[in-house]
Amino acid sequence: MRWTGCQRRGRPVDETGESVEISRTLRVDMFRPDLEAPTITGVSLDALWDRGLRGIIVDLDNTVCGYHSETLIPGVREWIVAAKARGFRVALLSNNFPERVAAIGARLDVPAVPNALKPLPGGFFIALRHLQTRRSETVVIGDQLFTDVLGAKLLGLQAVLTQPIVATDFPLTRVLRLMERVFFARAPRP
Ligand SMILES: [Mg+2]
Repeated sequence: MRWTGCQRRGRPVDETGESVEISRTLRVDMFRPDLEAPTITGVSLDALWDRGLRGIIVDLDNTVCGYHSETLIPGVREWIVAAKARGFRVALLSNNFPERVAAIGARLDVPAVPNALKPLPGGFFIALRHLQTRRSETVVIGDQLFTDVLGAKLLGLQAVLTQPIVATDFPLTRVLRLMERVFFARAPRP
């Protein structure tokens, strides 16, 4: 399967001004997270730091709060405070609408990028500009294989897959989760 259409509007550059490379080919390993965790609060900041990571891009729906919910999962605010105190830079990246994403970004005191169209690269580049971290030192944490993990891997970022915190999803997301189950049933896990 060929990846097309992500470099048509000029060549994006990273924080160093270098032209970035976007994978033009989908590979099976792009659907493999580097780490899996039950929730974001179960992700060890020390483990991320020890892997050389300094920037964290966090998904919103079903990662820090439920879809249609304004209630943050217990401990997520403290986890982000601790991450920033540790020296990480943190940003939210969501396919959801600006009002919701900005409101939760403000509550978590982190920059928030809405309408991201993950797994397409545009939103990830905006998040990277907020973070000012290199792609090699940036990790994406989210609950979806086909948006968070694939989007990360297309840009060479690391990825942590969390379990969705509630069963309710956007209708398109339900389709993607069905595809995830089929994919995991057929693809050998590392
Ligand atoms: Mg999500």
